[in-house]
Amino acid sequence: MKFAIATLGCKVNQYQSQLVREALVQGGAVEQDFSLPGADLYLVNTCTVTHRSDAEARKLIRRGAAFGSRLVVTGCMAGAYPREVRALSGSLEVVPFGNLPEALGVPLPGHITRFRGHSRAFVNVQHGCSNRCTFCIVPEARGGPRSRAMGEILREIECLHEAGFREIILTGINIGLYEGGAASLLQQIIEGSAMPRIRISSIEPWTVTTELVDLIAREGRICRHLHLPLQSGSDAVLSRMNRPYRAGYFRDLVLRLREEAPGMAIGSDVMVGFPGEGEGDFSETESLVEGLDLAYLHVFPYSKRPGTPAAGFEGVVGAGVARERARRMRELSKAKRSAFISSRIGREEEAVVTSAYGGGFTGLTSNYIKVEVAGEAPVHALVRIVLTQACEGHAKGRALE
Ligand code: SF4
Repeated sequence: MKFAIATLGCKVNQYQSQLVREALVQGGAVEQDFSLPGADLYLVNTCTVTHRSDAEARKLIRRGAAFGSRLVVTGCMAGAYPREVRALSGSLEVVPFGNLPEALGVPLPGHITRFRGHSRAFVNVQHGCSNRCTFCIVPEARGGPRSRAMGEILREIECLHEAGFREIILTGINIGLYEGGAASLLQQIIEGSAMPRIRISSIEPWTVTTELVDLIAREGRICRHLHLPLQSGSDAVLSRMNRPYRAGYFRDLVLRLREEAPGMAIGSDVMVGFPGEGEGDFSETESLVEGLDLAYLHVFPYSKRPGTPAAGFEGVVGAGVARERARRMRELSKAKRSAFISSRIGREEEAVVTSAYGGGFTGLTSNYIKVEVAGEAPVHALVRIVLTQACEGHAKGRALE
């Protein structure tokens, strides 16, 4: 049996696709590229975070349907808008992720053992969210929070370590909701595994506790990198988004992290053009971000998701205005990125090798700087380097003996 998988969206989706891949391969199936005809099964793992993700999913679903083989659609778009997905092709099957074992006739393994196409492995620790931010369809698509059993997490990390991985990235829909909190999650992983580097991908600001800040500050195996979604620097907008913190809390948190863990990369998400976001609200976001030592931003214009409370809000921001605000924030992000990288030039860092080519390699530092280095080192290796030159969005470095 031949199969092909197309995956859209977040790290949780990438992880879940890997789980299905391993299940099918263990059952004797062979994977092929999604763009080629001839597979017996095409699986599309969808995302629905913006209308653009929906459009990409529709494109892949139509491509899969054109091959005339079995087509299974899973993931967030299939979960939130099953009727719309079904309408794309008469023969496709919409299957919630949890029902895939039954639909595919193979049990999902308890953990993954490798990560196709990645030099650093995602480890999913948590599913679902109960916060109900008014713009977000995820709780609809993925349900409430559930924590993965620690035994499974540790077994998975051990397998990935044995397979050669030296960095894992903890993923989840809202990992701060892990039972007992993120600090306890990390402490158990540190004590129960030998993985040299553990990265937290993204964590909601209101779930970052003092214990977590202290742990990051003192534990060298935790990467000096946090992605803290801000979304808006206007308290009025944050309140309409149902985000349970205010701009002042975010500012204090970033300042505390900077003080406790110097050199840490702090990235953020900013959403522009949320309904009711006036020029004054946007300026508040801009000046908050300008004044903080952030390493980069991911900027998203608001995308209306049918079925969310915000879809019915008044004060729709015109597409042109939202585009202009996004452009301004992206410029700011570029400046922040350059300033952060420049501030690290001359410093020693440890990089995990992400790709190697004749005479050189690319690595990623604990504080999320992509670095090009001359010399030989195998993928996955951890190499001590010194950063020598800032370039556009990355750095050059020299390996230390
Ligand atoms: S915290 Fe908010 S944005 Fe994140 S998954 Fe939950 S509802 Fe969505």
